[in-house]
Amino acid sequence: MSPSDYPQAGRPQPLVLGSLLGRTLAWAPTQEILYRNERRISYSTFGRRLEQLGAVLQGLGVKPGDRVGILDHDSHRYLECFFAVPMIGAVLHTVNVRLTAEQMLYTVNHAGDKTLLVHTDFLPWIESVAGRLTTVETVIVIEENAPAPAVLSLPIAGEYESLLAQVTTPFDFPDLDENSVATLFYTTGTTGNPKGVFFTHRQLVLHTLGAGLSLAAHSNPVSFRADDVYMPLTPMFHVHAWGVPYLATMFGIKQVYPGRYEPELLLRLIAEQGVTFTHGVPTILQMLLKHPYSSQVDLSRLQMVIGGAALPQGLAQQAADRGIRLVAGYGMSETCPIVAISHLKPGMPTDNPAARLDVLSRTGFPIALVRAGIVDADGKNLPPGPENVGELVLQCPWLTPGYYREPERSAELWRGGNLHTGDLAYRDADGYIRITDRLKDVIKIGGEWISSLELENVLSQHPSVQEVAVVGVPDSKWGEHPLASVVLRDGIAHPVSSKELTGYLRSVIDQGLVHQRALLTEFHIVTTIPRTSVGKIDKKRIRAERKSG
Ligand code: AMP
Repeated sequence: MSPSDYPQAGRPQPLVLGSLLGRTLAWAPTQEILYRNERRISYSTFGRRLEQLGAVLQGLGVKPGDRVGILDHDSHRYLECFFAVPMIGAVLHTVNVRLTAEQMLYTVNHAGDKTLLVHTDFLPWIESVAGRLTTVETVIVIEENAPAPAVLSLPIAGEYESLLAQVTTPFDFPDLDENSVATLFYTTGTTGNPKGVFFTHRQLVLHTLGAGLSLAAHSNPVSFRADDVYMPLTPMFHVHAWGVPYLATMFGIKQVYPGRYEPELLLRLIAEQGVTFTHGVPTILQMLLKHPYSSQVDLSRLQMVIGGAALPQGLAQQAADRGIRLVAGYGMSETCPIVAISHLKPGMPTDNPAARLDVLSRTGFPIALVRAGIVDADGKNLPPGPENVGELVLQCPWLTPGYYREPERSAELWRGGNLHTGDLAYRDADGYIRITDRLKDVIKIGGEWISSLELENVLSQHPSVQEVAVVGVPDSKWGEHPLASVVLRDGIAHPVSSKELTGYLRSVIDQGLVHQRALLTEFHIVTTIPRTSVGKIDKKRIRAERKSG
């Protein structure tokens, strides 16, 4: 074969975020993107605003590779940054605004953000860490309800809307290498400082195509299609709201951005804007169901991907009772995030509610382009079966190449050439991955390993239980025993006692649903369960609170 047999006359099209937009702007120029009930822009305006934002940032001296941080509520502006910042070759740092002030400071300094876009709600944070932001040179202020102060401890470049309005000429985004880094954000682990994960244009485009195709191709029990109305309920700072805003924009569908999460407003937006597709952690679903206004809203058209934590069957049942269609999705910050979805396979039951619930409670089936393995402590592949629990390891085109400026932690993440999730799992007979626990959350009772998730799942099905969190706590005899923090349902006639809950556990143990040693569970009836910055059960804090008495 000679090179002339296959002439390279065409220029390969790089997989860059801008390439998701061309069709959309032509297909749906009048379709709308809403911010709460307050503002609506058409896709053609959106396209124009991207150019304006690109021009503003370049005008401020933002160069390819520079990090640009954003601190905003979920908004059309945030979506604009999702595209325009990477499209000028800069890296969008989606700052987790629910971390502590010190952790936020750490992330912005570690990322080396030069420019920050900051909603006035977060300006007090800037003042609280004044003088300690070591890299930020300029702030673009986002004004919504309150005007920005005239003076800040950092130079203000201007107000977002006024800066955009000053750009009146077209702006051409530069050509980019598809392997240039587009986004960066931080994930908090059990120990040490937050870690920065990052993704390239190519990875984000492939994730959009991979996850989008999986969600669009299947309809059971949930699908995401061109006639859906989308609203995120995973914060945009957390793994790009699971990447779904990129999908929704590629589809050119109506999108609703809810701003700061206010439960009644979220429910109103679902009802008034006809939202049909969303996603979030179980806590958010819990909140939608429990809020007093909820009963006035018809949720029967809503589809929701639940991820970030296991979906307890009790909660899945409560959602099913309201007609919400749920599907479980699995992923993590390091995985962009979607790698598995619990769609039903052909032939699986759709009419038997219990069987359907069972499939949904599986963590998920790997989506296209994802290779998942379960390995033992020596890295050896384990065969399917619940007796073969090991660590879930992954390969796919959209996994973070490492942790930003952390070569050692990166090598640890990617040891042996696979991405190590830190999750314990097995593959079931149908090929679904079933997460049994996080490696660090599994409870070791006298040499037996008990899954905290499994215990949470069975306890969640007790009629008096609203929410439950299980952690392992030190035990002089057994090494560890489970501690279950239980929130009871509102309005139950007879609050259950620990003794009754133990009795309930005995009955599920008799049915073989959970390990015998679950009987050692100690119960605490509590009013709330501590949550992390992204709404997951904060097991680290429960353990720490227990330790400090
Ligand atoms: P994060 O990086 O904060 O998004 O957390 C990722 C972790 O959430 C994973 O490593 C899992 O432990 C957990 N997780 C995500 N999705 C699921 C799921 N569907 N079922 C159980 N655990 C999940």
